[in-house]
Amino acid sequence: MTDARDTIAAISTAPGEGGIAIVRLSGPCAEKILRAAFRPANAQADLSGRRLTYGAAVGAGGEALDEAMAVLLRAPHTYTREDMAEIHCHGGEACAAAVLRRVLSLGARAAGPGEFTRRAYENGRVDLSGAEAVMQIIGAQGEAARRAALRQMRGGVASFVGEVVGKLTDMLSRIQAAVDFPEEVDEAAVGAQAREELDEIAARIERRADPRRARMLREGASVVLCGRPNVGKSSLMNALLSAERAIVTDVPGTTRDVLSERFTLGGKVVRLSDTAGIRESEDAIESMGVERARGEVEAADAVLLVLDASQPLREEDRALLRDVDERYILCLNKRDLIERLEEGELPDAPVVRLCARTGEGVEELLARLAERLRAGGGEEECFTVERQLRLAREAAALLRDCARALGEGFSPDVAAPDILKACELLDNVTGRDASEEVISAIFANFCVGK
Ligand code: GDP
Repeated sequence: MTDARDTIAAISTAPGEGGIAIVRLSGPCAEKILRAAFRPANAQADLSGRRLTYGAAVGAGGEALDEAMAVLLRAPHTYTREDMAEIHCHGGEACAAAVLRRVLSLGARAAGPGEFTRRAYENGRVDLSGAEAVMQIIGAQGEAARRAALRQMRGGVASFVGEVVGKLTDMLSRIQAAVDFPEEVDEAAVGAQAREELDEIAARIERRADPRRARMLREGASVVLCGRPNVGKSSLMNALLSAERAIVTDVPGTTRDVLSERFTLGGKVVRLSDTAGIRESEDAIESMGVERARGEVEAADAVLLVLDASQPLREEDRALLRDVDERYILCLNKRDLIERLEEGELPDAPVVRLCARTGEGVEELLARLAERLRAGGGEEECFTVERQLRLAREAAALLRDCARALGEGFSPDVAAPDILKACELLDNVTGRDASEEVISAIFANFCVGK
């Protein structure tokens, strides 16, 4: 396959200023182009030793374009499984661009988005779920996301899918045997066993294909501050971020927008949003804020409901307290003042007393929050890419349907086509026979140079 291909080139480091920039080549002419575009300082240097060699990137007339280091990597032990070369030049736009122009003039073609990884996929080095993981690891924010992407890139999802498809294939052959040899095989026993296994497999898939957990890994956990105006939400936001991002003010209802900031907590990225005071309002602009705030609370992974401990509960507080569920932590703020809030009126939820003004109690709140967010996700491999999630959930739903049908007394061969369909969906996760359209869409989201 490799022989018919052209050689691609791109700047693989991020744009902008940096210490070094890397121009990367992949394809049959990588070595020839490298030898023309790079001159080792030591004429005897062996470029093919997988070692970085010091020298200069040179132009068509042999003039130095930049001081550089270069390495040649021979197929198949490379990222793309083709011959590859890298020229490490000085960072910034100008040097790398000059080197790239030079290798293009020597016959390389500018790589499209994700083309290096696409070659890795086409040459069998990674499957589709692995290629998607490469993109995720580049975009990973926080330790938990990095670990999940790495497990996936190393085939965590692929081996899970392989195992499940293997089990389903076994099941199909047992069902087939019951159809072919009705005298020898007890159909009812095959059906009962299949039903049990189907439910078990569906549950395992569902656990790994939880959209909320996937989003939490991909985008970070969403944590929302809510409470009526003036209870100290902006102050608490500031205390939590130890930064002066939110606007602290004495006028009720002036925090109109949803402000949001990121920080990491126990390896997880947290997006903390401060909502406008959720209350009925005549003011048009503020009502809009109120609507958005409600949406944020509904979608949140955790909700910090702030109450002013120095005042008795008001009707507005009670309205908010009615929505409390297992995602909530109650923050009794202003503990530096005399407490006038009756705790007996609070619903059953974790309570943290704090003083946003001095930061007292904020550590405890963060610990509680970390606990709350940990409850959401184990460390097993899971589907984090939207495309994979969709396929896995569809497959799990089909398997549940089959289990239900068997439970209602249908004979196992009735379930066979849907079991087969579920296997196909799962195979598409790893892209064993994905269509060109699917493959192109996946790689179009990559950056050039990867
Ligand atoms: P928000 O409307 O809920 O965002 O409330 P703000 O953060 O703007 O705070 C409203 C008022 O309460 C401001 O005057 C804050 O300085 C004050 N405040 C906030 N936290 C505390 C606290 O822990 N103790 C005291 N005494 N005052 C606080």
